Amino acid sequence: MWKQRAKRAAIVSITVMAAAVIAIAWLWRDRPSLDDIGWPAPVTASTSVTDLVTVTWLGVSTLLFDDGETQILIDGFFSRPSLVDVVLGHPVENNAAMINYVLDEYRMRRLAAIIPVHSHFDHAMDVGAIANRTSASILGSESTAEIARGAGVPEDQITLVGENQVYEFGRFAVTLLRSRHAPIGWRGSVPLAGKIDAPLTLPQPVSAWREGVSYAIVISHPEGTTVVQGSAGLADGALRGVSADVVMLGVFGLDSLGKDYAEKYWQAVVTETGATSVYAIHFDDYTRPFGETVPGPKFLSDLSQTARWLEAFRDRWDNDTQLFLPEFGKPIAIYPQPAPEA
Ligand SMILES: [Zn+2]
Repeated sequence: MWKQRAKRAAIVSITVMAAAVIAIAWLWRDRPSLDDIGWPAPVTASTSVTDLVTVTWLGVSTLLFDDGETQILIDGFFSRPSLVDVVLGHPVENNAAMINYVLDEYRMRRLAAIIPVHSHFDHAMDVGAIANRTSASILGSESTAEIARGAGVPEDQITLVGENQVYEFGRFAVTLLRSRHAPIGWRGSVPLAGKIDAPLTLPQPVSAWREGVSYAIVISHPEGTTVVQGSAGLADGALRGVSADVVMLGVFGLDSLGKDYAEKYWQAVVTETGATSVYAIHFDDYTRPFGETVPGPKFLSDLSQTARWLEAFRDRWDNDTQLFLPEFGKPIAIYPQPAPEA
């Protein structure tokens, strides 16, 4: 009798576990297709043109700005630990071979600065390793500085950013404005919030990369101004008085925060700055290897839903603004030049 009951309980628990695994696997596979979004492809610059400001999107919110003279890297995330490593909290390290490949493939030989939007692993994991392979400065919060120190980056290559301070690199002028992270954690919290308060030596589980401070980054150049908003955090007034031509708009988890939140986010970042081009970023599954741009699973972040909302907000508030999805690894000419006179 007792034996039979134990057997039945074992069968039930195995069945429940199997069902859970199947459900998660199914949820993880249910993703929108990039083809369904239907936004126009951005204008990509041919590599022979070197005097335009270009931006190359390298997954999540890693963006390479280049004016032919100076390069600035927003974020630095090439190692991309797998889903298993992320979920099970395995200790992870910088992927040296991948970092070397990316620096070479995307010709980062004139890199002046590396500036993560905040200090989570999917933004800042590789900033120290990149700084060590270039002479670029790392700019950011105390947490970002600890990532750099853990990688052995010399102090004179680390800049703790000051409030509203302007940093010049060639013809670029960069300001970091204190913003917010999207509250996409349990019950409206920010996942992995808090600070990194000692040099972050690797390997570490991804949970070791704490948020630090989230920034909206304003990158000005004689040709135009771009705001990079890496995470969909609503910081009222953070961008007040800032005008921009382009917004790089972090959208991960935006649909899960509700349409009202999303609309306020649009107004605070796009309407406020008057940007006429908006590129959605941070829409890809960050557990896929570098170069694979698969939209995140719908149950975490539904890009198709977000895209329909952004179109509606654009139509309501900013009729002249164009929406784009960047293509991976292709330099985009972000400030369209007037056509030559006939
Ligand atoms: Zn984050």
